[in-house]
Amino acid sequence: MRAVGVDFGGTNVRAALVDVAAGQILGGDAKETVSDKSPEGVAATVERVVKAVDPKNERAGVGVGFAGMLRGWTGVVVNAPNFGWREVDFRAALRKRVGERTEIYNDLNAIAFGEATYGSARGVRDVFFCFVGTGVGAGIVADGKLYIGASHLAGEFGHIKVIPNGRLCGCGMHGCLEAYVSGRNLQAIAREDLQKTTSLAVELAGGLEHLHAGHLDEAAKRGDRYASELMEQAGSLLGVAMANAVTTLNPSRLVMGGGVWEKSSELRRHTMHFFQESVSRPALEGFEMVESTLGESAGVLGAAALIAGK
Ligand SMILES: [Zn+2]
Repeated sequence: MRAVGVDFGGTNVRAALVDVAAGQILGGDAKETVSDKSPEGVAATVERVVKAVDPKNERAGVGVGFAGMLRGWTGVVVNAPNFGWREVDFRAALRKRVGERTEIYNDLNAIAFGEATYGSARGVRDVFFCFVGTGVGAGIVADGKLYIGASHLAGEFGHIKVIPNGRLCGCGMHGCLEAYVSGRNLQAIAREDLQKTTSLAVELAGGLEHLHAGHLDEAAKRGDRYASELMEQAGSLLGVAMANAVTTLNPSRLVMGGGVWEKSSELRRHTMHFFQESVSRPALEGFEMVESTLGESAGVLGAAALIAGK
């Protein structure tokens, strides 16, 4: 069976036609930047990338991994900060353009399902996936099935609270994990702090306005005090949060991924230290932590597998 998987990365949309049984992308993929962020504009962009990868209409359906909070299986996006949407019936807009067999999934659930079906957690029944990139999120596979929760909101790991009344998060609440650990927030914290203090990271970036999480990690590696403290703070919060997830869920595998995680060796070092300190000892028996293996293809593969009912 062939299905089209669609994945949103920030404000890019990517689509691929997938041979679902083999887990293979057929004939390459298509990617486009979303310039018109209205629901109709985004739906039109999705239509273009879907038709580009499946011009002969071979697809059994279209699975869409979307960065936003969904209302159950209604196809309604409750909240999508990337696009500034509230209460949008996005599935209806998509079905008009790419066919009735179209479903929307939380983007991290689609990525987790891709990894569980074809990648780093193939054949493993109980898995916790944690992604640290522009944002922070998770996916849960329990007893071999994707666990989506009572109303499609399971895995909102970036929005667990780690500091009572802490930093304001993009979700509108305070003290979320994401507000301290994601690439976007590390950048925002540093740009704020470095008005008042100095760091090698600014030099590495060639100016405060160009600074991002990668410069902070590099500066920390070279012993810069500000960057080291920031990375230790982020790593301590992430490591303890991951340990709590493993203590709660008792997965046999924890899969780590995301651009910030992959590129930030100092963040990883601190995270692992605090994870090991905090996790329940019995939960480590028969447990392993691995890196995601599908990289940027996990989302399109997972979304295609989900719509195909694999
Ligand atoms: Zn939040």
